[in-house]
Amino acid sequence: MSVFVDDLFPCDDGTGVQPPAERPSPWPILVVDDDEQVHAMTRLLLKDFDFDGRDFEMLSAHSAAEARAILAARPDIPVVLLDVVMETPDAGLQLVHHIRRELGNRHIRIILRTGQPGQAPEREVVVAYDINDYRSKNDLTSNRLFTSLVSALRGWRDLTTIECLNRSLEARVAERTAELARRQAMAEEQTRFVENLVELMPSPVWYQEAGGTYRICNRAFRALFGGGMATVGADPPAFGGLAAPAAGTEPPPAVETAVMDADGQVREVLVMRKALAGPDGGTAGVVGIAMDITERRRMERELHRLAITDPLSGTYNRRHLLDRVEAALRDVEAGNRPFCLVMLDIDHFKRINDDHGHAAGDEAIRATVAEIRRHLRAGDSVGRIGGEEFAILLPDTTLADAGRVAERLRVGLAAMAVPLPQGHSHGLTASFGITQARGALDSMEAVLHRADQALYRAKALGRNRIELG
Ligand code: GH3
Ligand code: MG
Ligand code: MG
Repeated sequence: MSVFVDDLFPCDDGTGVQPPAERPSPWPILVVDDDEQVHAMTRLLLKDFDFDGRDFEMLSAHSAAEARAILAARPDIPVVLLDVVMETPDAGLQLVHHIRRELGNRHIRIILRTGQPGQAPEREVVVAYDINDYRSKNDLTSNRLFTSLVSALRGWRDLTTIECLNRSLEARVAERTAELARRQAMAEEQTRFVENLVELMPSPVWYQEAGGTYRICNRAFRALFGGGMATVGADPPAFGGLAAPAAGTEPPPAVETAVMDADGQVREVLVMRKALAGPDGGTAGVVGIAMDITERRRMERELHRLAITDPLSGTYNRRHLLDRVEAALRDVEAGNRPFCLVMLDIDHFKRINDDHGHAAGDEAIRATVAEIRRHLRAGDSVGRIGGEEFAILLPDTTLADAGRVAERLRVGLAAMAVPLPQGHSHGLTASFGITQARGALDSMEAVLHRADQALYRAKALGRNRIELG
């Protein structure tokens, strides 16, 4: 059985100081002696004592066996006044042994008392049993007993206070250790969470150390760049343009680039990167995420193409062709050489519909476009601006050259055989109005009006002809 300090000296607040009680309990002093007179004498002496505001309460044991029972029931006893010779010549020393070894009570102060001065314990026994004082019974006058007890009580109080502080410190250390372990467990859980999240992310994610080594490459990264890319230490050739930025520079937040995937296919990617600072404040590495935008960009291009294209003929639609005319006018204003605009309208197109059906009319439109394209240069553009009416933009072209182009077109269209079902075909002609941009004062409305007027004249003058405006 061990005696714990908390039983003796409550120290919940860790200071070892007891909260003030209304009537402080007396100091329990155990007197162990087989001589009743000694008890009576001691009780008498203790009656008038008090120490530290507390009286003394005497507990009497007339044998070592009785003392054991009292000590077992009262772990708060601070001092024992102990006879040496009782049931046996060394009953007192046996009791000391019991207190120190078996009860494990290191705090209780033991004052040996003997009637025979010759029975003083050996020095080794005093040390081994931690006996705190030795007195002859005759020695114990009132003052000497008081001095002896006070010194013992102080010793006991100091020991219990130190023990109390130790226990409180140990409790705090244990608490702190548990808190650190909890935090470490939380940090490890967070790390596992982030690692798993990164691994599961559908976009390629990586962490490249400042030295160039790729330390983290998630599943999507490995899938995009192949198993070989997962090899730590290799700089992916696909990221040639995205190598870690020079020390101290923050990478641009988002970069669009093209990379080659594991199958050799070019993928368009939007790459976002952030430099991570190391403990020394320098760049420890760069964390990156890439989004495969190949499909998105393809769809955007397709949407744009659809937005500017006439579905039947495949040429630019009216709005886009006019946008190009507008842009060409700005270029002329900026000093570029003038462009020409050719307006072309199929003659008597209504008759084609009427004679051969609407589908044949559509086919005639497509055939006309194919013929137009045959005569255009790479920088020229054509748009369907009405049912069977087209505008052709010829950049950096003189009116004479535009006339020559139109003439070739007129002849080509007139020579065309537009196929019909059952091996039949039909021919068509077209009329042309041409105008040239006239520098800074010209406007799109004016250009279109002149070309329209010229076309109108060509119609009026018999069709299948070219007029300049
Ligand atoms: P003109 O020589 O004076 O130009 O006579 P035209 O018959 O060619 O001109 P008009 O404006 O009288 O008739 C054009 C016709 O083109 C009327 C319309 O039904 C037809 N049309 C317009 N768009 C389409 C189309 O996309 N497909 C077909 N098949 N016909 C169309
Ligand atoms: Mg027409
Ligand atoms: Mg027309």
